[in-house]
Amino acid sequence: MPRYADVALPVTIDREFTYLVPPDLEPSALIGSRAIVPFGRKYATGLIVGRPDSTTVTLLKPLHDILDPVPVISAELLDLCRWIASYYLCPLGEVLKAAMPQGFSAASRRIVRLNPAASAESINAATKASGQRAQILSLLRTDGPTFASRLGRTTGVRNINAVLNDLVRAGIVEAEEEIPRPSTTPRFIEFIRIGDLSAEAIRQALSTLPPRKKNSRRLLDSVLALAGGATGEIAIRDLLKSSGSSLSAFRELKEAGILHSITREVSRQQEYGTEEQTLHIQLNTAQQMALDALTNAMSEGGSAFLLHGVTGSGKTQVYIEAIRRCVAAGRTAIVLVPEIALTPQMMRRFKSHFSDDVVVVHSRMSLGERHDAWRRAYTGKSRIVIGPRSAVFAPLSNLGLIVVDEEHEASYKQFDSSPRYNARDVAVVRAGKTGAVVLLGSATPSAESYYNVQTGKYRLLEMPERIDNVPMPVIAIVDMAAERKRAYVECKAALPEAQRGKLKNFVASPISSLLREKIADRLSRREGIILLQNRRGFAPFVECAECGYVEMCDNCNVTLTYHLTKKHLRCHYCGLTRVPHILCPSCGGTDIALRGVGTQKVEKELATLFPPAAVLRMDLDTTSRKGAHDRILRKFGEGGADILLGTQMVAKGLDFARVTLVGVVSADTQMLLPDFRASERTFQLLTQVAGRAGRSMLKGEVLIQTYQPHHYTLRHVVDHDFRAFYEEELTARRELDYPPFSRMALVESNGENEERVRAASEQFAAVLKRTAAPVTILGPAPAVIAKLRNRYRWHVMVKSPKEKDPAGATMRHALQAAAATMAKDGRKDVRLIIDVDPMGTM
Ligand code: ADP
Ligand code: ZN
Repeated sequence: MPRYADVALPVTIDREFTYLVPPDLEPSALIGSRAIVPFGRKYATGLIVGRPDSTTVTLLKPLHDILDPVPVISAELLDLCRWIASYYLCPLGEVLKAAMPQGFSAASRRIVRLNPAASAESINAATKASGQRAQILSLLRTDGPTFASRLGRTTGVRNINAVLNDLVRAGIVEAEEEIPRPSTTPRFIEFIRIGDLSAEAIRQALSTLPPRKKNSRRLLDSVLALAGGATGEIAIRDLLKSSGSSLSAFRELKEAGILHSITREVSRQQEYGTEEQTLHIQLNTAQQMALDALTNAMSEGGSAFLLHGVTGSGKTQVYIEAIRRCVAAGRTAIVLVPEIALTPQMMRRFKSHFSDDVVVVHSRMSLGERHDAWRRAYTGKSRIVIGPRSAVFAPLSNLGLIVVDEEHEASYKQFDSSPRYNARDVAVVRAGKTGAVVLLGSATPSAESYYNVQTGKYRLLEMPERIDNVPMPVIAIVDMAAERKRAYVECKAALPEAQRGKLKNFVASPISSLLREKIADRLSRREGIILLQNRRGFAPFVECAECGYVEMCDNCNVTLTYHLTKKHLRCHYCGLTRVPHILCPSCGGTDIALRGVGTQKVEKELATLFPPAAVLRMDLDTTSRKGAHDRILRKFGEGGADILLGTQMVAKGLDFARVTLVGVVSADTQMLLPDFRASERTFQLLTQVAGRAGRSMLKGEVLIQTYQPHHYTLRHVVDHDFRAFYEEELTARRELDYPPFSRMALVESNGENEERVRAASEQFAAVLKRTAAPVTILGPAPAVIAKLRNRYRWHVMVKSPKEKDPAGATMRHALQAAAATMAKDGRKDVRLIIDVDPMGTM
C-alpha cells in the first residue's frame, strides 16, 4: 500500500516535494488532484503528480487536505506538462499552473448540501461509520447548504475537503465550486423574433417606401425572406450584416412601428451571434481532398499536417468540416487561434456551426467565466474548445483533432513568463501522444513547419487557389528613394528662384504620388482601402538635426515615440511619458524635430491629402478599450469609412469584399531589424496584408513602399512565390546554423547593476563551456535592447546543430547543468532566463 505522494507546487524551485498520505486521505489522494500541504511555516496548494511506494526522504510531513473529489488534471495532460517542463527547462509546478485556469489556489468556495437523491440507508450507514461524518450531516440537515470552510470551522474537522469528497463519492453530499464573480458588465443584444413578423405588413411597408431608401429596402427584403413559417430569433447586428443595411435604417423602421425588437442579456458564450451564409457550403475539390486526408488520418491514429492555403482559399471551412467529422466519430477537438479579439468573424462562424458544442476561451474572460468554460470541456458538455495558446491545455478526453490556425504567428509563444512554451509545438506533441491529428494552417507557414514538410515530419496539404478562383491581387513596389528625389526636384521647381537655395531638410510625404493616385481612384469608386503602417504613434523618433541627439527612454534603451494626441513622448516598452525638449539638451540646437512615420502621422497626412475621406485608425492606442477592435472592424465592414489605417492588426483575419486597394506605407520598419526572423516576418506580414485586397470579384491591387526595392523578401512577395522565398531563406539559415537547422536557446541575464549583469552573463557562458557540450555559444553580449524597464540585459545565444543533436537533448542537458551551477552561486540581484526556441532575439 503506497503511502506517499509527490506534489508539484507553483514555485520557481524545479523539484517535487514528497509527503506522507494519512490513512483517512488515502482514497482521495489521487494523481491529478489538488492537495493542501504544509510548506515552510505555511500551507500551500499543489498538485499530486505521483504516488511512489517508497521514498528515501526522511522526516516527511503529512498531506493536510485534498481539494478535488476527482482529478482535475488527467494522466494524459500531466504527461504533456512533464514534457513541457523538461523541453522548456522550467519547473513542473509552473507548467501545471498554466494548464489550470483556476490555478492552484482555492480562489473558489465550495458550497455543500445533502444530495436529495441519497437514500436514508446510505445516510445512516455513513452516520454510523464515524462521529465526524454524523456531525457534518446533521449540520447540513439543520442548516441547509453551506460553505465547506464553515463546516470545517464548526466541526473542527481538519481535512474537511477530503471528508466531504468521500461523502460526494458515496452520493450522500453534493458539492459545487463557486468562483466569486467580479462585476462584469452584462452584455445586451437586440433581437427580432421571427415569429412576430408579418409578411403582409412588411410588403405593405416596402410598397410605400421611396426607392432612394436603399438601406431600409435591403433590410426589409431580408426580413421578408425570413417571415412566414420560421421561428426563433435573429440578432439585429447579424441581420444588418447579412443584408448590408445600417443601424440607422433599422432605428427608423422601428420608430415607424414597422419592425419590433427585444433586448436580452446574453452570456459571453452567446455574444458572437450567428452567421447564416457559411452554413451550407459545398466544399470544392481542393478542400474535399484536404478533408479526406484528415478524416483518414483521424481513423488511422493521427499524424501531423501542414495546410498551406492562400488567404481566402477556404481553410476555415476545412477546419469546420474536419471538426464535424471528428465529433461525429465521438471525439473532441481543439482550435488554437492567435488572438480571439482579432478574430470575431471566425468565432461567429464556429458558433454558427456548432453552437453550444463549442466553448470559446480568451484572455479577457473573468476567472469565473474561464472556470465555467473549463467545466464544460471537462464534463464533455462542449466537445470543441477554441482559444489562444493556453487552450492547448483544454481538459478534453478522447482528442481527435487539434487545429492551429495561422501557425506561423509569434503569439503562440509565451515569451514574457515561464513556461516559455510554443503552443503550436505543444499541440504537435499532444496530438502525437494521444493519437490525434494535428492540422497547422497558414497562408504563410513558418520556416520551421515548411522544413518539417521537407523532412517528412509533416504531410503537406495545399490549396493554392482562392475560392471561386478570385485572382490574387497584383502587387507593385514603390521605390521611395526615387520618389523622394522626384518630390524634392518638384518642390524646388515650384519655389521662386530666390528661395530655391534654402530648401534644406526637405521632408517628403509618407504617401508617394502613385499611392496617392490609387487612393483617389478608389475613393471616387467608393471601394475600400486598407493602409498598413506597422508603427503606432506619430513620429517613432525625435532627433536633433545638428548633432544627431535622439530622445531616448531613461529606463529602456529604445527611442521615444512622439504621440500627437497627447503631445508627449512615450516609451512603447515601459510606458514612460514625458514632454519633448524644445532645445537640444546635447548641443542646444533648435532644429530638434520629429522623424519617421507612425500611424498618427499617416492619419494626419491623409486628412491633408483627402479631406473628405473617412479614415479609421486601428492600433494599440485606439483599441485598448474592450470591444473597440470589433467596433472599428464592424464600422469599416459596413461601409462606415473609406480607409482602414493601422498597424499589423489590419493584416489579420479580415474578410471585406469591398477592399480593392492595400497600401503598405513602409515595408522597412520590420525588414531591417537585427533578428534572424526579420525577413520571414516581413514576408508573412506583407503577404497577409496583400491577401486583404480583392477578396471578391472586384480586382485587388497592392502597393508596397520601401527604400529597399531590391530586397529578396519583397521580390518574392510581389511574385506570390512562397516556395522561392523559403528556399532562399532556408539557404541563408543553413549557412548560419539558425533554426530550423539548429536548436536554439537564448539565455538572458538581467538586473539593475550593469556590471553585475555582465559578470553573471560571462560566468554563465564560461560554465556552459566547461560542460564541454558540442554546442555553439555566441556572446555574452549586451542585448539589442540593452536596457528594459530599468534592467540591463545581456544575452548568451546557444545553438546546437540538428544533425548532431536532433531532439536538442544535448543542449538542454548542458543548459540545465550550467543553470544549476549558477543557482548554487545564488546571485540574487541578477535574474537568469532560459528561453528554448526563442521567437525574438532582441
Ligand atoms: P481562409 O480561412 O483560407 O481565409 P475561408 O474559409 O474564410 O478562407 O473562406 C473564404 C471565403 O470563402 C469565406 O467567405 C467562406 O465563407 C467562403 N467559402 C469557403 N469555402 C467555400 C466553398 N467551398 N464554396 C463557396 N464559398 C466558400
Ligand atoms: Zn521605456
